[in-house]
Amino acid sequence: MTDDRRNRPRPDPARRPIPPDSVSRPVASPLQPSVVWASADADEMDAIYLGGPAGFTYAREAHPNGDQIARAVDALEGAPTPGLMYGSGMGAVGAILLGLLKAGDHVVAGDQLYGKSLKLLREDLPRFGVTTSFVDPTDGAAIRAAMRPETKMIWVEVVANPTLRVADMRGAAEAARAGGARLVVDNTFTTPRGWRAFDEGADVVMHSVTKLLAGHSDATLGWAAARDPQDRAQLLAAQQGFGATASPFDCWLAERGVASFALRYDRAEANAGALADHLAGLPGVAQVLYPGRDDHPDRARAEALLQGRWGTMVSFRLEGGRPAVNRFLRAAPGLAFAPSLGDVQTLISHPATSSHRGLTPEGRAALGIDEGFLRVSVGIEDIEGLRREFADGAAAAARG
Ligand code: PLP
Repeated sequence: MTDDRRNRPRPDPARRPIPPDSVSRPVASPLQPSVVWASADADEMDAIYLGGPAGFTYAREAHPNGDQIARAVDALEGAPTPGLMYGSGMGAVGAILLGLLKAGDHVVAGDQLYGKSLKLLREDLPRFGVTTSFVDPTDGAAIRAAMRPETKMIWVEVVANPTLRVADMRGAAEAARAGGARLVVDNTFTTPRGWRAFDEGADVVMHSVTKLLAGHSDATLGWAAARDPQDRAQLLAAQQGFGATASPFDCWLAERGVASFALRYDRAEANAGALADHLAGLPGVAQVLYPGRDDHPDRARAEALLQGRWGTMVSFRLEGGRPAVNRFLRAAPGLAFAPSLGDVQTLISHPATSSHRGLTPEGRAALGIDEGFLRVSVGIEDIEGLRREFADGAAAAARG
């Protein structure tokens, strides 16, 4: 190398180059993990903070990949104000509860919510002076009867986990209107494909985007949106202040996932209906729970509410308790025994040892969950393969 070349100034690798401009645009969204954004001067940064020109400042507050997936979920849910992303579904739950409630407020909540939501309401919020009455969400009269002057929120899931009971959503919406409280819907299970919560009177809607919307068990995210702009401002403050920040990478993965959400949902739902009927004919299966079956305890309400969108979840009970469950699982290794839902592949979970292990056996029994109870998140696989796998599992369970 000549002295001349050696002495030439080299680009400093610590000083990153400005990305090249392009008149053509990328077809796939770029992944932008930048934590912080550079502005031209103090006036420009000030204007961005004041909501003037569109721009980002700091990734905990907002980032492009978060905005992209949020707009996609907004469109699915028909969100009246722009939705917000959180680092998990529980991040969204926490932001709604802590962002919208204050000491002295009261919540009426379904008694069959996701376990961690139940725990927050039952054990953590009382430390902040917020109390909750738990009611049977299938009983609109019970929801109305639990309302108090200080009730600020009704919290419900449309289809309960894992019992797949269908809530009286219209009763809950009426109670919220009459009592001047917000109706909050966790729409994770049902999704806007099954129930458009804002169209039906919800004031706040949330998702664990981790589940069906992202759809591949590779991103952990939450989304929440509010009808009222003031509520939205409080959800934004909670997002920015409590630090439940969504990772750009997970948002980027979820954006890819959500593009196929409707196709995946429809296929998984068709599989779920076929599988529910198949399960009902297998040896050793004592009960099948699926809102689309005539023997579902809330069949009439499911019909009125969901109108054929019965969902992708099926629960069933095996005779013979946990030993039968273990035999089933070992004989059906193609089904991932994993406590989540909404993946492209079928996931099977045992609520007594996972989502509902925090309840006493009596508490579980009150919900109809025993050691033989299994919950299936049905995937998009070929239905014949699923039928075979479940038949093998049930035969092994029944052999004893
Ligand atoms: N809501 C429901 C109905 C869920 O099933 C879950 C998780 O399973 C959550 C909220 C929490 O979501 P995440 O696991 O993304 O925090």
